[in-house]
Amino acid sequence: MSGLALRTEDLSRVYPSGDGQVTALSSFSHTFRPGMTAVVGPSGSGKSTLLNLLAGFDTPSSGRVWVGDTDLHRLGEAGRADFRLRHYGFVFQSHNLVAILSAQENIEFPLMLAGVPPRERRDRARALLASVGLERRSRHMPAQLSGGEAQRVAIARALVSEPEVLLADEPTGNLDSRSGGAVLDLLMAPARAGRTVILITHDPEVAARADFTLRVRDGEVREEVYA
Ligand code: ADP
Repeated sequence: MSGLALRTEDLSRVYPSGDGQVTALSSFSHTFRPGMTAVVGPSGSGKSTLLNLLAGFDTPSSGRVWVGDTDLHRLGEAGRADFRLRHYGFVFQSHNLVAILSAQENIEFPLMLAGVPPRERRDRARALLASVGLERRSRHMPAQLSGGEAQRVAIARALVSEPEVLLADEPTGNLDSRSGGAVLDLLMAPARAGRTVILITHDPEVAARADFTLRVRDGEVREEVYA
């Protein structure tokens, strides 16, 4: 499984604010390369705005997001939802697992939406649970898992459809450093396998392990390159 080229072209998002407007993202052109890109910057600088535009959750004021040959924002709402299902995985700060489904059922859920037959769903979910070290937690409900375990289930769920693009918003934000390290290891694996992993983080240790760093300040994005 290889990454899909993800590219922004003069991407801008302006929000109305009181009598005026705020430029949350300013004319950002960038090609995201396979591997892990960390997006860093102070609160309010435009990181979430960027991630929401890359995901197609929000609409740009101008500019484009290309995912492979697809102009993401030219797809309709339903087209984007379907595109996300087929090509994207998401990991949030809070695991967002479905409370009434077991760990295994949570992982199967995206496959069910995609129409994958039950036996294949079960096999793939089990393999993913094992790969995040939780094969013995398959029947546990989210409330019975620790924060780190729940986040590992959430990552398994994000990876089960083998997405080319993985978007993560502060995935280690609620975790102690040991659990956070384990979660980061799991996110590094798809990056090493040539997928495009983009994560927002406040944690300098997480950013230091990424292959590329984008620093956002007042809606301006710069790539930082280390020698
Ligand atoms: P970050 O994720 O880096 O904390 P955001 O992308 O959330 O920053 O916000 C960037 C700027 O855009 C901020 O000034 C914020 O107040 C503004 N902003 C974000 N979302 C909205 C919105 N829905 N309506 C108005 N302003 C917004």
